[in-house]
Amino acid sequence: MEQTRFTPDLDLDGVSADEAFAVLGNEIRLEVIRVLWRADAAHEYDDGSDIAEAISYSELQKKVGIEDNGKFNYHLSQLAPHFVRRTNDGYRLSGAGKQIARTVIAVSGTDQLDFSTEIEDDCPLCGAHIEATYEDQWLRIKCTECDGLFGDQAPKGTLFLTSYPAAGLTNRNPDQALAAGLYRCALDITYMMYGICRECAGHISSSVTVCEAHESHGDRPCATCGTPFSVWADMRCDTCGFAKRLPAEMFATGLAMATGLIDNQELDIHSPSFEEVVNLLQNSVETTVSKNPLRVSITIKAETSTFTITLDDEMNILDIDRRLRSETPT
Ligand SMILES: [Zn+2]
Ligand SMILES: [Zn+2]
Ligand SMILES: [Zn+2]
Repeated sequence: MEQTRFTPDLDLDGVSADEAFAVLGNEIRLEVIRVLWRADAAHEYDDGSDIAEAISYSELQKKVGIEDNGKFNYHLSQLAPHFVRRTNDGYRLSGAGKQIARTVIAVSGTDQLDFSTEIEDDCPLCGAHIEATYEDQWLRIKCTECDGLFGDQAPKGTLFLTSYPAAGLTNRNPDQALAAGLYRCALDITYMMYGICRECAGHISSSVTVCEAHESHGDRPCATCGTPFSVWADMRCDTCGFAKRLPAEMFATGLAMATGLIDNQELDIHSPSFEEVVNLLQNSVETTVSKNPLRVSITIKAETSTFTITLDDEMNILDIDRRLRSETPT
């Protein structure tokens, strides 16, 4: 089978990514995973594989509803041992099987939701009305008037955009869902800044683009790069392709939020307000670039301290310098 960059030849239990797609592309096998998941879903712990709830062969066959022994046996053998494990007590899901079940649960639910009417914030850039939508597993906030934060790198007016599983809307009102989306985004960024993919734990490769003739004033993006930010970073997982392209300032701010470097009293790190995060980005973050070798320094002025994160051309963190505001020359 041809290997592409994103269907790597992973050899865990001998199942490549393409083989895993093929094994799971069958209704009966997915039903086996569903039945085993339901049997074990209420189990208290996730890690102790030997104590997971197992189902006997005959009970599993009955619940899946396939009477033909040969047929059932064939499909079960396709799932084992990568997705389903056989134990002395019967069958249970493997770690990979549980992950598949969790993914199905995470993406189940609402496909589309417009909750603009329930959002209290106005555009932090221009004060106009903002629209918040949920569509195709993405949370989006956009301004109805101004260009937004990303210039021509995102649809006009985009202020925030993040992937968000549909299950995350359950038991959360729109404001809470947005706060959870922001915090998750900061955590995603943090994983990536440390070179780890949150989706698959693969290695992240990063590159930096600098606008050499950058000039951006207020809400007017630079004529050369078409964005308000002079340094952009591309981060992409070598294994599954999970990627983000964002201003380096946003990567640094996400990391700073998630790791508690920011000490602003009004910014609740775990439930950040969209407006406060944008205000921080707009008013308290500065970027300087030096060449040969390329160094990007991002300074964030928090409430009691100022810190500077220095990055190289592959977004490696070279230094985090933190000082109390009283020590910082003004
Ligand atoms: Zn606006
Ligand atoms: Zn520019
Ligand atoms: Zn990945």
